[in-house]
Amino acid sequence: MAQQAKEQKVKENSPIKDVEGLRSAMISWFSRVGKEYPWRMTEDGYEILVSEMMLQQTQVATVIGRGYYHRWLEQFPDIHTLAEADEESVLRAWEGLGYYSRARNLQKAARLIVEEHGGVFPRSLSQIEALPGVGRYTAGAVASFAFDAPVAAVDANIARVLARLFDFRERVDTTHARKQLLAWACSLVPDSGGRIWNSALMELGQHVCKSGSVACHQCPAVSWCRATDPLLLPAKKKRKAQVAVDEHVLLAFRRNKLLLEQEVGRRRRGLWKLPARAIEEIPDVSPAYKEQYSITRYRVTMFIHELQDVIAQENERWFRLEEIADLPMPSPYRRVVVDFLARQGKAIESR
Ligand code: SF4
Repeated sequence: MAQQAKEQKVKENSPIKDVEGLRSAMISWFSRVGKEYPWRMTEDGYEILVSEMMLQQTQVATVIGRGYYHRWLEQFPDIHTLAEADEESVLRAWEGLGYYSRARNLQKAARLIVEEHGGVFPRSLSQIEALPGVGRYTAGAVASFAFDAPVAAVDANIARVLARLFDFRERVDTTHARKQLLAWACSLVPDSGGRIWNSALMELGQHVCKSGSVACHQCPAVSWCRATDPLLLPAKKKRKAQVAVDEHVLLAFRRNKLLLEQEVGRRRRGLWKLPARAIEEIPDVSPAYKEQYSITRYRVTMFIHELQDVIAQENERWFRLEEIADLPMPSPYRRVVVDFLARQGKAIESR
């Protein structure tokens, strides 16, 4: 509660005059146009945490449109189910969303809630922020959306809205700027109604005050906004250019079994993929075909070599086809496997 109380104090110092007027304009606008996302229809902390973790790196259209959110809640309807699940089924359910540490952290959070909070989702900002994988933004979002707590939550959309509202021209990706934006966000959040206020700010950033376009004539905050050239804001450090890398993988298939390698790297640990080889280790260097995908700042060209006489190396195993559907596998490899098996007249489940 100490953190919440500290942030409460900041409220008294908003540089915006008539904060009440701004709140009321925003809330009335949101009540008319706000989208009815499934996580806005629940006050369950766990369900909201799931949505926030999924939305950290993935768009709403994918999370809802491709069924990830609903499928997850069907498979892991509550904290206890997720806490008791095996990691492989958790990673498989996350497959296609990428950034698998989010799935692992969700399960760690569920286990911690069971062990330390008796399975009851914690309500305070600091307790929520202490969950694995949960930063200040996610904690604020869960506390306000689930429990209507009067706390700020500054994600990329809200940071952009605030930078424009306050005509903040410094780079927003510094510690100082983050603190400043959070202080402004705290100064605006009402004492009651954190849920609707944060939802309204977020909605504004998603649909009106967007990164590549602004519709100021439709904006409920236009009378309070100080931005003179909104499209120049927020100021950010230039992104690093993508780095092109090549990857050579094997499609080794024999006697109805496929050779797969289990990842040991931090990012995709535990997932199964096509085995990688250095180009010198591949007898026929002309690849069967290639695919491309992006991961973090890498643009990967994956050369796929179809081979039969392959000896399994460390962390590699032959799997029967019926086993492959249940294995967690990063999407680029899943696409190759599904396509290859379809060409062989053998279908496996694909999401
Ligand atoms: S008036 Fe324009 S720039 Fe300002 S918050 Fe609204 S949409 Fe963004």
